[in-house]
Amino acid sequence: MPRPTCYMCDEPATSREHVPPKCLFPEVKDVGADYRQNLLTVPSCDEHNSGKSSDDEFLMVSLAGIIGNNSIGYSHKFSKVNRAIHRSSFSLLDRAMKNQRWSVVEFGPNKFIDVVWGTPDYDRFLRCFDRIARGVHFAQFGRKFSGESRTILGYIPSCLPNPAEFQRLIRDKVAIELEGKPRVGGNPDVFNFRLTDPDPLGLYLAHLQFYGGLDVYVALTPDGCQIPDDLTMMLIEGGIETTIKLGAEEYRFNVDEPVTRRPG
Ligand SMILES: [Zn+2]
Repeated sequence: MPRPTCYMCDEPATSREHVPPKCLFPEVKDVGADYRQNLLTVPSCDEHNSGKSSDDEFLMVSLAGIIGNNSIGYSHKFSKVNRAIHRSSFSLLDRAMKNQRWSVVEFGPNKFIDVVWGTPDYDRFLRCFDRIARGVHFAQFGRKFSGESRTILGYIPSCLPNPAEFQRLIRDKVAIELEGKPRVGGNPDVFNFRLTDPDPLGLYLAHLQFYGGLDVYVALTPDGCQIPDDLTMMLIEGGIETTIKLGAEEYRFNVDEPVTRRPG
């Protein structure tokens, strides 16, 4: 039987790597409940396991919404995870983001959170989510994902009309495609994921959800996948007013009107 290789590269696996990082999961001593059971792990080489601990911490600070009332940094200090998002959003991006501003974001029907937003370390975010998406792919299919990933941070609001409209379109489209698919993850209130079926071109998408409300979408394009030029995207990128329809909903790009307007 061949030795398993790393979920990120072709090196032999030397250990198991947690997906997402273990530090995102609260400990019993902090929250009184054990959120560290049945954690997802994938085979990993040395470089792709121990070599990224600082990214793990970055992600934890950026995502977990830890309340900063501890002196040594990162003690998991929330009681109920969904509430923790709300509270800890106040400080979660403190160390990870510059030029902070406040915003209220709707993350579900009549569910709102306050978030700080500003200038995140995007490259680092993308690196973290790329790894997690590749990890969940491995966990789901038992093999490495070979291809490119593109991350859309569903929980960071954009003040620009087009990106905001794209977020809304992605969220709604993914909700339709994932309807009925079970959320995977031993501690779904901390982390769960779902993968869409491949579309006719072979593209698919991972929906990563952290702490019940932070949604991240990662589009996965396998190697060798031929993406034809998309006329709609060319129009949008060309600044031409464009409407995309999804069921009864309309998504309008390059318009001056406020976004999230519903027809009728
Ligand atoms: Zn590796």
